[in-house]
Amino acid sequence: MFENATLDLPCPGCGKKHPRTVAWLKAHTEIACDCGAKIELDSANLHRGMAEAERKLKAFTKKITIKL
Ligand SMILES: [Zn+2]
Repeated sequence: MFENATLDLPCPGCGKKHPRTVAWLKAHTEIACDCGAKIELDSANLHRGMAEAERKLKAFTKKITIKL
């Protein structure tokens, strides 16, 4: 359900954010940054990211409800 949610993953080396969808993250184990650092994608990180995406979606839904 959150496959298309985009997460901003900050590089531990330079702090640059790498937006990736949940579907992309499930299919990869790391992100190579331009600075040479690698962002390791472990399941704990992904789980945390998905929880964050879920919170954002809930907040978004809440806004829509208020708007309507
Ligand atoms: Zn970097």
